[in-house]
Amino acid sequence: MQVFKFGGASVKDADGVKNVAEVLKQFPHEKLCVVISAMGKTTNALERLTKAFFYKTENAEEILEEIKQAHYTICKNLFANPSHAIYTDLENTFVELHWAIEDEPTHAYDFEYDQIVSIGEVLSTKIVSAYLNDIGITNKWMDARGLIQTDNTYREGKVDFELTEALVKTQIEPQLIIHSIVVTQGFIGGTSENFTTTLGREGSDYTASILAYCLNAHNVTIWKDVPGVLNADPKWFSHTKKIDELSYHDAIELTYYGATVIHPKTIKPLQNKQIPLYVKSFLNPKASGTVIKDGENRLNIPSYIFKVNQVLISIQPKDFSFIAEDNLSDIFELFSKHGVKINLMQLSAISFSVCCDDDTEKIKLLVAELQQTFKVLYNSNLELMTVRYYTPETIDLLTKNKVILLEQKSRFTVQMVMKNEE
Ligand code: ASP
Ligand code: MG
Repeated sequence: MQVFKFGGASVKDADGVKNVAEVLKQFPHEKLCVVISAMGKTTNALERLTKAFFYKTENAEEILEEIKQAHYTICKNLFANPSHAIYTDLENTFVELHWAIEDEPTHAYDFEYDQIVSIGEVLSTKIVSAYLNDIGITNKWMDARGLIQTDNTYREGKVDFELTEALVKTQIEPQLIIHSIVVTQGFIGGTSENFTTTLGREGSDYTASILAYCLNAHNVTIWKDVPGVLNADPKWFSHTKKIDELSYHDAIELTYYGATVIHPKTIKPLQNKQIPLYVKSFLNPKASGTVIKDGENRLNIPSYIFKVNQVLISIQPKDFSFIAEDNLSDIFELFSKHGVKINLMQLSAISFSVCCDDDTEKIKLLVAELQQTFKVLYNSNLELMTVRYYTPETIDLLTKNKVILLEQKSRFTVQMVMKNEE
Protein backbone atom coordinates (compact mmCIF):
# COMPACT_ATOMS: atom_id res chain seq x y z
CA MET A 1 0.00 0.00 0.00
CA GLN A 2 1.02 3.59 -0.56
CA VAL A 3 0.36 6.90 1.16
CA PHE A 4 -0.42 9.96 -0.96
CA LYS A 5 -0.50 13.52 0.26
CA PHE A 6 -2.20 16.37 -1.58
CA GLY A 7 -1.56 19.87 -0.23
CA GLY A 8 -3.75 22.95 -0.24
CA ALA A 9 -2.55 24.10 -3.68
CA SER A 10 -3.67 20.83 -5.26
CA VAL A 11 -7.26 21.27 -4.04
CA LYS A 12 -7.55 25.05 -4.25
CA ASP A 13 -10.52 24.88 -6.66
CA ALA A 14 -12.87 22.42 -8.39
CA ASP A 15 -10.38 21.77 -11.20
CA GLY A 16 -7.80 20.88 -8.58
CA VAL A 17 -10.13 18.31 -7.01
CA LYS A 18 -10.86 16.85 -10.46
CA ASN A 19 -7.14 16.62 -11.06
CA VAL A 20 -6.68 14.70 -7.79
CA ALA A 21 -9.16 12.18 -9.21
CA GLU A 22 -7.10 11.99 -12.42
CA VAL A 23 -3.97 11.23 -10.42
CA LEU A 24 -5.74 8.51 -8.43
CA LYS A 25 -7.06 6.92 -11.63
CA GLN A 26 -3.47 6.08 -12.51
CA PHE A 27 -3.35 3.66 -9.57
CA PRO A 28 -6.43 1.48 -10.08
CA HIS A 29 -5.04 -1.59 -8.34
CA GLU A 30 -3.27 0.08 -5.44
CA LYS A 31 -4.41 0.35 -1.84
CA LEU A 32 -4.07 4.04 -1.01
CA CYS A 33 -4.23 6.11 2.12
CA VAL A 34 -4.86 9.64 0.84
CA VAL A 35 -4.01 12.57 3.11
CA ILE A 36 -5.42 15.97 2.18
CA SER A 37 -4.83 19.52 3.45
CA ALA A 38 -7.28 22.37 3.69
CA MET A 39 -8.28 23.92 0.37
CA GLY A 40 -6.08 26.74 -0.97
CA LYS A 41 -5.56 29.42 1.66
CA THR A 42 -8.30 28.18 4.00
CA THR A 43 -5.93 27.69 6.94
CA ASN A 44 -4.86 31.34 6.75
CA ALA A 45 -8.51 32.39 6.66
CA LEU A 46 -9.28 30.19 9.68
CA GLU A 47 -6.32 31.73 11.52
CA ARG A 48 -7.84 35.14 10.84
CA LEU A 49 -11.17 33.83 12.09
CA THR A 50 -9.58 32.61 15.33
CA LYS A 51 -7.92 36.01 15.90
CA ALA A 52 -11.17 37.81 15.17
CA PHE A 53 -13.03 35.56 17.62
CA PHE A 54 -10.40 35.77 20.34
CA TYR A 55 -9.10 39.33 20.07
CA LYS A 56 -12.06 40.96 18.28
CA THR A 57 -9.71 42.26 15.57
CA GLU A 58 -12.31 41.82 12.83
CA ASN A 59 -15.88 40.66 12.39
CA ALA A 60 -15.71 36.89 12.89
CA GLU A 61 -19.11 36.24 11.28
CA GLU A 62 -17.96 37.89 8.07
CA ILE A 63 -14.82 35.79 7.83
CA LEU A 64 -16.83 32.63 8.50
CA GLU A 65 -19.18 33.61 5.69
CA GLU A 66 -16.22 34.10 3.28
CA ILE A 67 -14.89 30.64 4.13
CA LYS A 68 -18.33 29.14 3.66
CA GLN A 69 -18.83 30.76 0.26
CA ALA A 70 -15.40 29.65 -0.97
CA HIS A 71 -16.27 26.03 -0.17
CA TYR A 72 -19.76 26.22 -1.65
CA THR A 73 -18.38 27.71 -4.85
CA ILE A 74 -16.10 24.72 -5.24
CA CYS A 75 -18.96 22.33 -4.44
CA LYS A 76 -21.26 23.90 -7.03
CA ASN A 77 -18.65 23.03 -9.64
CA LEU A 78 -18.32 19.46 -8.41
CA PHE A 79 -21.86 18.43 -7.45
CA ALA A 80 -24.55 19.44 -9.90
CA ASN A 81 -27.38 18.06 -7.76
CA PRO A 82 -28.33 20.77 -5.21
CA SER A 83 -29.75 18.16 -2.85
CA HIS A 84 -26.55 16.11 -2.82
CA ALA A 85 -25.80 14.83 0.71
CA ILE A 86 -22.51 16.78 0.77
CA TYR A 87 -24.44 20.04 1.23
CA THR A 88 -26.07 18.81 4.47
CA ASP A 89 -22.77 17.42 5.63
CA LEU A 90 -21.01 20.76 5.08
CA GLU A 91 -23.90 22.69 6.62
CA ASN A 92 -23.52 20.60 9.78
CA THR A 93 -19.78 21.21 9.87
CA PHE A 94 -20.32 24.97 9.51
CA VAL A 95 -22.89 24.90 12.31
CA GLU A 96 -20.22 23.34 14.53
CA LEU A 97 -17.75 26.02 13.51
CA HIS A 98 -20.37 28.65 14.23
CA TRP A 99 -20.90 27.23 17.71
CA ALA A 100 -17.18 27.43 18.33
CA ILE A 101 -17.14 31.20 17.77
CA GLU A 102 -20.57 32.05 19.15
CA ASP A 103 -19.78 32.45 22.84
CA GLU A 104 -16.85 34.21 24.47
CA PRO A 105 -13.58 32.23 24.40
CA THR A 106 -13.32 29.96 27.43
CA HIS A 107 -9.91 28.38 26.88
CA ALA A 108 -6.39 29.54 26.05
CA TYR A 109 -5.75 30.90 22.55
CA ASP A 110 -3.85 27.85 21.27
CA PHE A 111 -6.66 25.52 22.33
CA GLU A 112 -9.34 27.60 20.60
CA TYR A 113 -7.06 27.88 17.54
CA ASP A 114 -6.88 24.12 17.09
CA GLN A 115 -10.64 23.59 17.50
CA ILE A 116 -11.31 26.19 14.79
CA VAL A 117 -8.40 25.87 12.34
CA SER A 118 -8.70 22.06 12.13
CA ILE A 119 -12.08 22.43 10.41
CA GLY A 120 -10.33 23.38 7.14
CA GLU A 121 -9.10 19.82 6.70
CA VAL A 122 -12.45 18.35 7.74
CA LEU A 123 -14.19 20.37 5.01
CA SER A 124 -11.69 19.61 2.26
CA THR A 125 -11.65 15.86 2.90
CA LYS A 126 -15.44 15.67 3.01
CA ILE A 127 -15.66 17.37 -0.37
CA VAL A 128 -12.90 15.34 -2.03
CA SER A 129 -14.15 12.03 -0.61
CA ALA A 130 -17.74 12.68 -1.75
CA TYR A 131 -16.59 13.75 -5.21
CA LEU A 132 -14.42 10.66 -5.66
CA ASN A 133 -17.27 8.38 -4.58
CA ASP A 134 -19.58 10.13 -7.05
CA ILE A 135 -17.32 9.48 -10.00
CA GLY A 136 -16.75 5.85 -9.05
CA ILE A 137 -13.48 6.06 -7.10
CA THR A 138 -14.94 4.44 -4.02
CA ASN A 139 -13.27 5.40 -0.81
CA LYS A 140 -13.83 5.66 2.92
CA TRP A 141 -13.60 9.04 4.70
CA MET A 142 -11.89 8.69 8.06
CA ASP A 143 -11.48 11.17 10.89
CA ALA A 144 -7.78 11.68 11.69
CA ARG A 145 -8.69 13.02 15.14
CA GLY A 146 -9.50 9.45 16.14
CA LEU A 147 -6.28 8.09 14.60
CA ILE A 148 -3.39 10.47 15.21
CA GLN A 149 -3.15 10.70 18.99
CA THR A 150 -1.22 13.57 20.54
CA ASP A 151 -0.58 15.15 23.91
CA ASN A 152 -2.28 18.46 24.67
CA THR A 153 0.42 20.78 23.32
CA TYR A 154 -2.03 22.73 21.20
CA ARG A 155 -0.74 23.99 17.81
CA GLU A 156 2.26 21.64 18.04
CA GLY A 157 0.79 18.32 19.19
CA LYS A 158 3.39 15.69 20.12
CA VAL A 159 2.40 12.39 18.58
CA ASP A 160 2.02 9.29 20.75
CA PHE A 161 3.35 6.80 18.21
CA GLU A 162 2.44 3.68 20.16
CA LEU A 163 -1.21 4.63 20.58
CA THR A 164 -1.43 6.03 17.06
CA GLU A 165 0.06 2.89 15.54
CA ALA A 166 -2.47 0.67 17.33
CA LEU A 167 -5.41 2.84 16.22
CA VAL A 168 -4.22 3.22 12.64
CA LYS A 169 -3.64 -0.51 12.29
CA THR A 170 -6.96 -1.59 13.73
CA GLN A 171 -9.02 1.10 12.01
CA ILE A 172 -7.44 1.85 8.64
CA GLU A 173 -6.21 -1.61 7.64
CA PRO A 174 -9.69 -3.25 7.58
CA GLN A 175 -11.08 -0.28 5.61
CA LEU A 176 -8.33 -0.60 3.02
CA ILE A 177 -9.35 -4.20 2.47
CA ILE A 178 -12.96 -3.20 1.80
CA HIS A 179 -12.54 0.11 -0.03
CA SER A 180 -8.95 0.19 -1.33
CA ILE A 181 -8.87 3.94 -0.74
CA VAL A 182 -9.06 5.78 2.58
CA VAL A 183 -9.29 9.59 2.58
CA THR A 184 -8.23 11.43 5.71
CA GLN A 185 -7.04 14.82 6.97
CA GLY A 186 -3.49 16.01 7.26
CA PHE A 187 -2.34 18.34 10.03
CA ILE A 188 -4.88 17.38 12.71
CA GLY A 189 -5.01 14.94 15.61
CA GLY A 190 -6.84 14.33 18.86
CA THR A 191 -6.07 14.05 22.56
CA SER A 192 -7.13 11.34 25.00
CA GLU A 193 -9.92 13.69 26.08
CA ASN A 194 -11.17 13.96 22.49
CA PHE A 195 -10.06 17.53 21.92
CA THR A 196 -8.61 18.45 18.55
CA THR A 197 -4.94 19.33 18.14
CA THR A 198 -2.86 20.43 15.17
CA LEU A 199 0.67 19.38 14.36
CA GLY A 200 2.09 22.79 13.37
CA ARG A 201 1.64 24.75 10.13
CA GLU A 202 2.24 22.77 6.96
CA GLY A 203 1.99 19.62 9.07
CA SER A 204 0.10 17.48 6.54
CA ASP A 205 3.33 16.04 5.17
CA TYR A 206 4.08 14.85 8.68
CA THR A 207 0.66 13.15 8.92
CA ALA A 208 1.40 11.26 5.70
CA SER A 209 4.69 10.12 7.14
CA ILE A 210 3.15 9.02 10.47
CA LEU A 211 0.49 6.99 8.66
CA ALA A 212 3.08 5.39 6.38
CA TYR A 213 5.11 4.44 9.44
CA CYS A 214 2.10 2.89 11.18
CA LEU A 215 0.89 1.04 8.08
CA ASN A 216 4.36 -0.05 6.93
CA ALA A 217 3.61 1.55 3.59
CA HIS A 218 5.65 0.76 0.51
CA ASN A 219 6.24 4.43 -0.10
CA VAL A 220 4.83 7.92 0.33
CA THR A 221 4.18 10.42 -2.46
CA ILE A 222 3.77 14.13 -1.83
CA TRP A 223 2.01 15.61 -4.88
CA LYS A 224 3.03 19.21 -5.49
CA ASP A 225 2.87 22.01 -8.04
CA VAL A 226 6.63 21.70 -8.67
CA PRO A 227 8.31 18.81 -10.53
CA GLY A 228 10.11 17.59 -7.39
CA VAL A 229 12.64 18.88 -4.86
CA LEU A 230 14.56 21.74 -6.45
CA ASN A 231 18.01 22.96 -5.41
CA ALA A 232 16.53 26.38 -4.60
CA ASP A 233 13.17 28.07 -4.26
CA PRO A 234 12.09 29.42 -7.69
CA LYS A 235 10.63 32.38 -5.79
CA TRP A 236 14.19 33.65 -5.23
CA PHE A 237 16.35 31.89 -7.82
CA SER A 238 15.92 31.71 -11.57
CA HIS A 239 18.03 28.72 -12.63
CA THR A 240 16.77 26.00 -10.34
CA LYS A 241 17.51 22.35 -10.94
CA LYS A 242 15.44 19.34 -9.95
CA ILE A 243 17.18 16.88 -7.67
CA ASP A 244 16.46 13.31 -8.79
CA GLU A 245 17.59 11.53 -5.69
CA LEU A 246 18.20 12.75 -2.18
CA SER A 247 19.38 10.90 0.92
CA TYR A 248 17.30 11.10 4.11
CA HIS A 249 20.29 12.85 5.65
CA ASP A 250 20.47 15.61 3.04
CA ALA A 251 16.68 15.97 3.08
CA ILE A 252 16.57 16.44 6.84
CA GLU A 253 19.44 18.96 6.71
CA LEU A 254 17.83 20.98 3.93
CA THR A 255 14.43 21.12 5.63
CA TYR A 256 16.06 21.93 8.94
CA TYR A 257 17.80 24.94 7.39
CA GLY A 258 14.45 26.12 6.04
CA ALA A 259 13.78 24.46 2.69
CA THR A 260 9.98 24.57 2.65
CA VAL A 261 9.36 21.83 0.09
CA ILE A 262 8.55 19.31 2.83
CA HIS A 263 7.84 19.69 6.53
CA PRO A 264 11.03 18.98 8.55
CA LYS A 265 9.32 16.38 10.76
CA THR A 266 8.40 14.23 7.75
CA ILE A 267 11.74 12.49 7.34
CA LYS A 268 12.33 10.79 10.69
CA PRO A 269 9.42 8.27 10.73
CA LEU A 270 10.19 7.32 7.12
CA GLN A 271 13.91 6.96 7.73
CA ASN A 272 13.21 4.80 10.79
CA LYS A 273 11.35 2.30 8.61
CA GLN A 274 13.30 2.89 5.41
CA ILE A 275 10.19 3.97 3.52
CA PRO A 276 11.04 5.98 0.38
CA LEU A 277 9.43 9.39 -0.10
CA TYR A 278 8.57 10.65 -3.58
CA VAL A 279 7.93 14.30 -4.37
CA LYS A 280 6.07 14.57 -7.67
CA SER A 281 4.08 17.01 -9.74
CA PHE A 282 0.30 16.62 -9.66
CA LEU A 283 0.28 18.25 -13.09
CA ASN A 284 2.54 15.60 -14.56
CA PRO A 285 2.02 12.47 -12.47
CA LYS A 286 3.98 10.16 -14.77
CA ALA A 287 7.19 12.20 -14.45
CA SER A 288 9.83 10.80 -12.10
CA GLY A 289 10.02 13.64 -9.55
CA THR A 290 12.43 13.25 -6.64
CA VAL A 291 12.96 10.21 -4.48
CA ILE A 292 14.22 10.58 -0.92
CA LYS A 293 15.66 7.38 0.47
CA ASP A 294 18.56 5.82 2.27
CA GLY A 295 21.89 6.48 0.65
CA GLU A 296 25.41 7.73 1.05
CA ASN A 297 25.42 9.81 -2.11
CA ARG A 298 26.07 13.47 -1.61
CA LEU A 299 24.38 15.95 -3.89
CA ASN A 300 26.61 17.02 -6.72
CA ILE A 301 25.18 20.50 -6.97
CA PRO A 302 24.83 23.19 -4.30
CA SER A 303 21.41 23.71 -2.71
CA TYR A 304 20.38 27.18 -1.60
CA ILE A 305 18.04 28.19 1.18
CA PHE A 306 17.26 31.85 1.47
CA LYS A 307 15.38 33.38 4.39
CA VAL A 308 14.44 37.03 4.66
CA ASN A 309 13.18 39.04 7.62
CA GLN A 310 15.86 37.79 9.95
CA VAL A 311 17.04 39.40 13.15
CA LEU A 312 20.51 39.05 14.66
CA ILE A 313 20.57 39.33 18.44
CA SER A 314 23.88 39.78 20.21
CA ILE A 315 23.91 39.02 23.93
CA GLN A 316 26.75 40.16 26.21
CA PRO A 317 27.27 40.04 29.97
CA LYS A 318 27.02 43.57 31.37
CA ASP A 319 30.30 43.33 33.29
CA PHE A 320 32.64 42.05 30.54
CA SER A 321 32.69 38.56 32.05
CA PHE A 322 32.75 35.44 29.87
CA ILE A 323 29.70 33.85 28.36
CA ALA A 324 29.85 30.47 30.06
CA GLU A 325 27.76 27.35 30.41
CA ASP A 326 25.58 28.64 33.21
CA ASN A 327 24.48 31.85 31.50
CA LEU A 328 24.12 29.99 28.19
CA SER A 329 21.63 27.65 29.78
CA ASP A 330 19.70 30.68 31.15
CA ILE A 331 19.71 32.22 27.67
CA PHE A 332 18.41 29.04 26.00
CA GLU A 333 15.69 28.77 28.60
CA LEU A 334 14.45 32.23 27.66
CA PHE A 335 14.44 31.40 23.94
CA SER A 336 12.43 28.28 24.66
CA LYS A 337 10.06 30.11 27.02
CA HIS A 338 9.24 32.70 24.36
CA GLY A 339 8.97 30.12 21.58
CA VAL A 340 11.75 31.73 19.51
CA LYS A 341 13.48 29.20 17.26
CA ILE A 342 17.17 29.67 16.56
CA ASN A 343 18.32 29.56 12.93
CA LEU A 344 22.01 30.08 13.62
CA MET A 345 24.18 30.80 16.66
CA GLN A 346 27.79 31.74 17.34
CA LEU A 347 29.75 32.13 20.53
CA SER A 348 32.75 34.34 21.27
CA ALA A 349 34.41 35.14 24.60
CA ILE A 350 32.02 37.85 25.67
CA SER A 351 29.22 37.67 23.16
CA PHE A 352 26.63 35.16 22.03
CA SER A 353 24.98 35.90 18.68
CA VAL A 354 21.73 34.36 17.51
CA CYS A 355 19.91 34.70 14.20
CA CYS A 356 16.17 34.03 14.16
CA ASP A 357 13.00 34.83 12.24
CA ASP A 358 11.76 38.31 13.12
CA ASP A 359 8.52 37.35 14.80
CA THR A 360 8.25 40.89 16.19
CA GLU A 361 5.93 40.23 19.14
CA LYS A 362 7.91 37.27 20.44
CA ILE A 363 11.29 38.96 19.87
CA LYS A 364 10.18 42.09 21.76
CA LEU A 365 9.26 40.07 24.85
CA LEU A 366 12.41 37.94 24.61
CA VAL A 367 14.73 40.94 24.26
CA ALA A 368 13.05 42.72 27.16
CA GLU A 369 13.66 39.75 29.42
CA LEU A 370 17.24 39.23 28.21
CA GLN A 371 17.97 42.90 28.92
CA GLN A 372 17.30 42.35 32.61
CA THR A 373 20.57 40.40 32.82
CA PHE A 374 22.54 41.14 29.65
CA LYS A 375 23.49 43.89 27.30
CA VAL A 376 21.51 43.13 24.14
CA LEU A 377 22.12 44.55 20.67
CA TYR A 378 20.06 43.67 17.69
CA ASN A 379 19.90 44.21 14.00
CA SER A 380 16.82 43.49 11.92
CA ASN A 381 15.87 43.28 8.25
CA LEU A 382 18.61 40.78 7.48
CA GLU A 383 18.86 37.79 5.18
CA LEU A 384 20.07 34.32 6.04
CA MET A 385 21.62 32.40 3.19
CA THR A 386 22.43 28.72 3.64
CA VAL A 387 24.28 26.76 0.99
CA ARG A 388 24.69 23.02 1.33
CA TYR A 389 27.58 21.66 -0.75
CA TYR A 390 28.91 25.15 -1.39
CA THR A 391 31.82 26.06 -3.64
CA PRO A 392 33.96 29.22 -3.40
CA GLU A 393 32.34 30.47 -6.62
CA THR A 394 28.82 30.13 -5.24
CA ILE A 395 29.80 32.15 -2.17
CA ASP A 396 31.37 34.92 -4.29
CA LEU A 397 28.25 35.15 -6.39
CA LEU A 398 25.83 35.24 -3.49
CA THR A 399 27.72 37.81 -1.45
CA LYS A 400 28.14 40.34 -4.24
CA ASN A 401 26.95 43.76 -3.00
CA LYS A 402 26.22 42.30 0.42
CA VAL A 403 27.67 42.99 3.84
CA ILE A 404 28.19 39.80 5.83
CA LEU A 405 27.42 40.24 9.51
CA LEU A 406 28.10 36.68 10.55
CA GLU A 407 29.34 33.60 8.79
CA GLN A 408 29.60 29.95 9.73
CA LYS A 409 31.16 27.21 7.69
CA SER A 410 31.28 23.48 8.14
CA ARG A 411 32.66 20.96 5.68
CA PHE A 412 29.44 20.84 3.66
CA THR A 413 27.39 23.85 4.66
CA VAL A 414 27.93 27.58 4.82
CA GLN A 415 25.52 29.99 6.47
CA MET A 416 25.73 33.74 6.15
CA VAL A 417 23.73 36.48 7.80
CA MET A 418 23.84 39.42 5.41
CA LYS A 419 22.31 42.70 4.33
CA ASN A 420 22.54 44.81 1.20
CA GLU A 421 25.48 47.19 0.90
CA GLU A 422 24.42 50.76 1.62
N1 ASP B 1 -3.51 23.29 6.10
C1 ASP B 1 -2.38 23.34 6.99
C2 ASP B 1 -1.55 24.58 6.68
O1 ASP B 1 -1.80 25.26 5.72
C3 ASP B 1 -1.55 22.10 6.93
C4 ASP B 1 -0.85 21.85 5.62
O2 ASP B 1 -1.21 22.45 4.61
O3 ASP B 1 0.08 21.03 5.59
O4 ASP B 1 -0.65 24.87 7.42
MG1 MG C 1 -0.79 24.14 3.15
